[in-house]
Amino acid sequence: MNKKYFMSIAIAAALTIGSLPTLANPASAHSSVDDLKKKQDEVSSKKDQINGEINEKKSEINANINKQQDIKAKIAEFDAKIRDTESKIAEKAKEIEQTTAEIEKLKVEIKELEDKIKERNELLKERARAIQEKGGSANYLDVLLGADSFGDFINRMTAVNTIVSADKKIMDEQKRDQEKLEKKKEEVESKLAQLENDKASLETLKKDLNSEKAQKAELFKQLEKQQASLEKEKVNLEKESSELAKMEQQIGGEIQAEQARLAELARQRELEKKRQAEAAAAAAKQASASSSGGSASASAAVTTPVSSGTWTRPASGSITTEYGWDVLNGESRYHYGTDIAAGGSVPIVAAADGYVIKSHYSSSYGNVVYITHSINGKTFTTVYAHMSSSLVGTGTPVDKGQRIGYMGNTGYSFGQHLHFELHAGSWNASKSNSVNPRRYINF
Ligand SMILES: [Zn+2]
Repeated sequence: MNKKYFMSIAIAAALTIGSLPTLANPASAHSSVDDLKKKQDEVSSKKDQINGEINEKKSEINANINKQQDIKAKIAEFDAKIRDTESKIAEKAKEIEQTTAEIEKLKVEIKELEDKIKERNELLKERARAIQEKGGSANYLDVLLGADSFGDFINRMTAVNTIVSADKKIMDEQKRDQEKLEKKKEEVESKLAQLENDKASLETLKKDLNSEKAQKAELFKQLEKQQASLEKEKVNLEKESSELAKMEQQIGGEIQAEQARLAELARQRELEKKRQAEAAAAAAKQASASSSGGSASASAAVTTPVSSGTWTRPASGSITTEYGWDVLNGESRYHYGTDIAAGGSVPIVAAADGYVIKSHYSSSYGNVVYITHSINGKTFTTVYAHMSSSLVGTGTPVDKGQRIGYMGNTGYSFGQHLHFELHAGSWNASKSNSVNPRRYINF
């Protein structure tokens, strides 16, 4: 709904009110109240619609808040995962450092061993050369030939061999050590490669987690923005709703004022009629005084006798059920009216001067007429139910004794009768204003 719509209603209402003072004809006076009620209904249903939209917004906002909480929780999860990954990366980095240091140490050890082997190789070579070139073999031979027995020869030979093979054994051991170191170096290097690999995967994981976290953070920002606009929409709708409620109330006040004005109009009309009747009676008295007693004109159209005073009984017939506690179809109930029954075509008349405020069919009351009366500044409402037909429409002004319909058996009724209610005030569903009609009417 927009402001234009408000304006159009406000203007329409203003126009309706504005047209009231020109009402000369009461039949159209009624339509002003009807129009106001229609406008009030329009405003009321628009307000209901807006309130529905407000509730929708509220649930959208709640859904949004729930989503935000979910995402917050997810972001916290990502943070924890990222922290975990970071500490794993730090661990790997430390291991890599240690392994690299180990490799360096191994390299140094290998180098030292290689140098030692080289040195010893040189030494062995030199010794072999010495034996060959500088008659070393002769020396060996001298050693061997110097033997004084075969046993001594064998001993000397073994000694020479032992020297040579001892050298060779040392060299072989050194070679094995070197191979072991090389192997260990290879193992450590492969471990290092594995560590580097692990660290790289962790770095990738961290990067992915950060990017997912960034996505969630972006989503969170969007939801916050969405929520802000939903709140704003809700506030606007609430403003509209309260404006409509105000308007509804205002039209309600206008309806009351209009009804009061119409009642006052009816009262004045009645006073005027009374004055005219008195004037006519005075004239007739004068006329009868002058002429020799002509009979009163027959106003025999109304078969229900109309009594003098403010009130008259609404139909001829016998009282079949009084106001108060009563038994109907075996069940005790409170009877809020007086039942009058008679056979044939029985006219029903207005119990006092007033205005028809409702004339319609209801499943309980059948054809029913509600009349409002303003008597000495007090409002009364009379109800005429179960009529076979109604002669007056909503808004019709009626005089006491004026025919408004015929006795019938429509609605929740068991046999032709008039169910007549009198309320000191307005009618309501609980009938709290109902009074015994005998308090006012002579049946
Ligand atoms: Zn009744």
